[in-house]
Amino acid sequence: MKKIRVTIWNEFRHETKNESIAAIYPEGIHGAIAKGIAAEDLEIRCATLDEPEHGLTDDVIANTDVLIWWGHCAHGEVRDDIVAKVHKRVLEGMGLIVLHSGHFSKIFKAVTGCSCSLKWREEGERERLWNIAPAHPITRGIGEYFEIPHEEMYGERFDIPKDSEILFISHFEGGNVFRSGVTLERGYGKVFYFQPGHETYPIYYQKEILQIIGNAIRWAAPVFFREMTAPNTPAIDEIKSVYEGPKAGIVQNVDGSNK
Ligand code: ZN
Repeated sequence: MKKIRVTIWNEFRHETKNESIAAIYPEGIHGAIAKGIAAEDLEIRCATLDEPEHGLTDDVIANTDVLIWWGHCAHGEVRDDIVAKVHKRVLEGMGLIVLHSGHFSKIFKAVTGCSCSLKWREEGERERLWNIAPAHPITRGIGEYFEIPHEEMYGERFDIPKDSEILFISHFEGGNVFRSGVTLERGYGKVFYFQPGHETYPIYYQKEILQIIGNAIRWAAPVFFREMTAPNTPAIDEIKSVYEGPKAGIVQNVDGSNK
C-alpha cells in the first residue's frame, strides 16, 4: 500500500515561550497531532518555522501529499518565496489542511484570495459543531453534532470565498455562529479549513478532532500531481474555418517566461 505522505507544519512559538501552553503540548501542537492521527496508511513528518527554510525545503514540498498548517503569532515571518512554492504545489495537487488561527496565514489568504477576517473572543466557552454534510468523507464517523468543552470563539462574518463547501457550522455558548469546517478546490489541490485548535486548550487530543483531521487527510490526498500550464494544443477534429491572417499567440509558462 502506498502511504499518504503527511507534513504537519507548526509555527511552534507558543509552546516554546509559554509554560502553560508547553504543559498542554510538551511535544508541540504538531507532536500531539502526529501522535493522534498516526495510522498504517500515513507517513508523517513535522516541520516548524524556525528550522532552515521553515522545514519546507524543495525536497519536503515535493514529497508531501498533504500539508497541515498551524500558525498564529508569526504569520509575517513566513517567507513569501516558500509560501509561493507551497501555493504552486497545492495547484498541482497537494492537499492542504489549515487549522484554527491559520485562517490568517499567508498560504490560506493565497488559496482563498480573501482577507479571511473573522470575530474572536477568548473566554473558553463551549462550542457545538453541527455536522451539516453527513455524507462527506471528512465527516465520516462523526454524529449529528459534537461539542468542545472550552474553545476560543471564532464568529461570523468569516471572509472566505463563496465556493467554500460548508461541512460544519458551529454555535458558541456566547451566541455567535461560525462556518467551522469548509472545503475548497484550487487547481488540482483540495483544501480544508478546520476552526478548532486554540493553543491554550487540549483540543488536539479530542477524538472527534483527530478523526476529522485524519478523514481530511485521506480526502485531500492527491489523485495525481500535474503542473498547471497553458498548453498550445492541436485540434482533435479538422478545422475548415482557418483564419489566414497573422497569429499573435505565444507560449506562456507558469514561471512567467515565454520560451
Ligand atoms: Zn486561537
